[in-house]
Amino acid sequence: MLNVENLSTHFFTKRGIVRAVDGVSFSLSRGEVLGLVGESGSGKSITGYSLMGLVDSPGKIVDGSITFDGQELRSLDARGWRAIRGKKIAMIFQDPMATLNPVLRVDTQMIEAVLAHDAVPKAQARDRAREALSLVGIASPDARLESYPHQFSGGMRQRVAIAIALLHKPALIIADEPTTALDVTIQGQILAEMQKLCAKTGTALLWITHDLSVVAGLADRIAVMYAGRIVEQGATDQILAAPAHPYTVGLLDSIPSRNVRGQPLRQIPGAAPTPAETTAGCAFAPRCSQKKSTQCTQSAPQVSMHEGRALRCFVPWVHHA
Ligand code: ADP
Ligand code: MG
Repeated sequence: MLNVENLSTHFFTKRGIVRAVDGVSFSLSRGEVLGLVGESGSGKSITGYSLMGLVDSPGKIVDGSITFDGQELRSLDARGWRAIRGKKIAMIFQDPMATLNPVLRVDTQMIEAVLAHDAVPKAQARDRAREALSLVGIASPDARLESYPHQFSGGMRQRVAIAIALLHKPALIIADEPTTALDVTIQGQILAEMQKLCAKTGTALLWITHDLSVVAGLADRIAVMYAGRIVEQGATDQILAAPAHPYTVGLLDSIPSRNVRGQPLRQIPGAAPTPAETTAGCAFAPRCSQKKSTQCTQSAPQVSMHEGRALRCFVPWVHHA
């Protein structure tokens, strides 16, 4: 349904070119959940914005293709994008107030969102709004429709934003860290409900997060992003059981777990490269415990298949049983 091939989105700033997304490829089938994971600044949001046609100057998609339902999205004009955005592809942002208008009642906003794409009577639009609110687990949706965003808790507000994303039963939802600001219990509830909803409706989900443990129980597949590139991509259970990229190994090691209780948490040494930094070698090499000096610092690894996953690494991690 979605096929992203060699997507590159760069920012042309006074201080140089920022290669925020640099040759990213992945695909998504109907009903599939892909977790896009990586540290802050690795290019996850810009990947999502690129798929929604939301990249603004000085940013620009400079290469690659995005095909969705057989259509090349890069060739769409503003009108073409309006027909797709919110209708076939919807996005949920970290801050629900990016979606909600603080001065309008929830019903006003939801009805407007329905009418933006479907010319239906207002009463019918309201019914759809009510239905969407119950779908995301909001009790007494009729009364809640008459509330303003500030009358909801943070978790409930995010549920409303999710309900708005669901209004048109999109084929694809891009969720950009929608639960990061919420407490762990609420986060777990929303995740579980999203997963159920998508399975039921056949909606594909691109779930963006900096927290690998969030997608561990949610995604069918995981794509690990580092410095604008996907460095490892494959089935979730395979990646969790035997991560191949040293960066994925580091991410997994830095998740607190009960098995290592009482021991200091391991962390990946060093920091991610600043966006305008470029290197001829692998971007992760400076932090990598596995690197082979000349190979890894002088050329960038291309994507190759390794034990069922797409990997950008010259020296995949070897697991010792
Ligand atoms: P993530 O979501 O993984 O935290 P982003 O996709 O938001 O990261 O950003 C990727 C990179 O693109 C970052 O290094 C960021 O500094 C850069 N970037 C994002 N927006 C702009 C912009 N408007 N101008 C210049 N650089 C930008
Ligand atoms: Mg982001």
